[in-house]
Amino acid sequence: MKRRINLLIAFSAVALIVLTTVQCYLVKTAYDYKVAQFHTQIKNEIAQITNNYSDIDSALVCKKEILYKTLSENYFQGKKTKLDLKNGVLKNEYQSSITEQLRRKFERDLPNFKIDFAIVLNKFILYKNTQKADTIFSEKPFIQNKLYGNLASLNHAFLVRSYVGTTNGTFENQEYKLLTEDSMYVSVIDWEMIILRRMTFILILSLLSITTLISLFVIAIKALIKQKKVSDVKTDFINNITHELKTPLATLGISTKILEQKNIRENDENFNAIVNTISRQNNRLQNLIDQVMANSLAENEIELKKEKIEAEDFLLSIVNDFKLTFPKIDIKTDFKTSNTILVLDKFHVTTAFLNVLENAVKYGSNTITITTKIIEKQFSISFEDNGIGIAKNKQALLFEKFYRVEQGNLHNTKGLGLGLYYVDQIIKAHQGSVNVISDLGKGAQFTILLKV
Ligand code: ADP
Repeated sequence: MKRRINLLIAFSAVALIVLTTVQCYLVKTAYDYKVAQFHTQIKNEIAQITNNYSDIDSALVCKKEILYKTLSENYFQGKKTKLDLKNGVLKNEYQSSITEQLRRKFERDLPNFKIDFAIVLNKFILYKNTQKADTIFSEKPFIQNKLYGNLASLNHAFLVRSYVGTTNGTFENQEYKLLTEDSMYVSVIDWEMIILRRMTFILILSLLSITTLISLFVIAIKALIKQKKVSDVKTDFINNITHELKTPLATLGISTKILEQKNIRENDENFNAIVNTISRQNNRLQNLIDQVMANSLAENEIELKKEKIEAEDFLLSIVNDFKLTFPKIDIKTDFKTSNTILVLDKFHVTTAFLNVLENAVKYGSNTITITTKIIEKQFSISFEDNGIGIAKNKQALLFEKFYRVEQGNLHNTKGLGLGLYYVDQIIKAHQGSVNVISDLGKGAQFTILLKV
């Protein structure tokens, strides 16, 4: 059963991990899709607001074209090298004003996004009618070739579009064409936040489903473990009670068989001895049934008949009765209190104290010390024995109904696992508490705290 539960837990944990991984994968896919969708949206919106930048300020763009022509013509005349021409184009005086105008345009037309951008020049080629194309430069998009914009790097930016521009001119009666290609890169500030906001619904939904799944898993496993414990406890109880019932029933069976013999019935002494045995076994059976009945009540269902008693006298009377039943046990008292008045149900508390004392004897003790003291305005009674003790890891369940420390080679003592449960219920019904300090092989100390 335990193996099956462990297997079930392992399988469920694996299933949970797989489901969580699938869920994460789906969220990641949704995120990638949203990013692509966002890029397309930005591209479309920017495409609508600017095309060849001439709509920004045609006069400025015109001046820029004149500069390009002048630079090209200087190059034709051999006054400038290719590098001079490239530098002249890239460091032109209109850069900051065109950048500023583009920035304002983005702000006005795309008010929902804060955009950083860069327009980088990739190609500059000259065509003369008579000669073949003269490539001044042709490079991959590179931030050092930035014409306009405020981006410092293209790393986290995405390409919105590339634009090829042509300008025609004449030099020494020959027509020439100037071809430029530039690319626009943009980066939307806080784009991750924008996408996360757009994914809020998906994220909440998947988080909710994962937490629900984990909670259901934990609840199911807890229920399973609890059920297993209850079933173990029930099996233990049935085994114990059968064991307890067997002896008196067997004795009763034998006694009735003996009584059937005429010679026994005619001998008064023998007859009385057998009747006594029957009566003793009957009482034992009655006690067992009473014990089970008494323990079927919960702490708040126990009816208490409380009365004022003097605690030390009360304890001494219990000790004296106990000594009569167990004359070989050395039972000492160490009362650090005197004339303490407690209000309690004498019958139930006596039974509870006797349970603790009888347990001490049952579990190997021959010396018991009862100590009383006042701890934080509470009356403390501790029963210390020198028996077999209880391992630390067994102590948490000690006061549970039907719980018995696994027998194994520990002890072979009979019991129903109800004694300490009863003690706990009765003491709780008096708003008190009971706890144990013990270790295997080192005896046990049960301490009961009661309201003064
Ligand atoms: P039972 O004695 O019928 O088994 P109890 O509820 O009285 O049931 O005790 C529960 C378990 O606690 C016992 O099975 C025993 O192993 C352990 N126990 C109780 N008292 C002592 C003690 N004084 N010393 C060692 N073990 C004890």
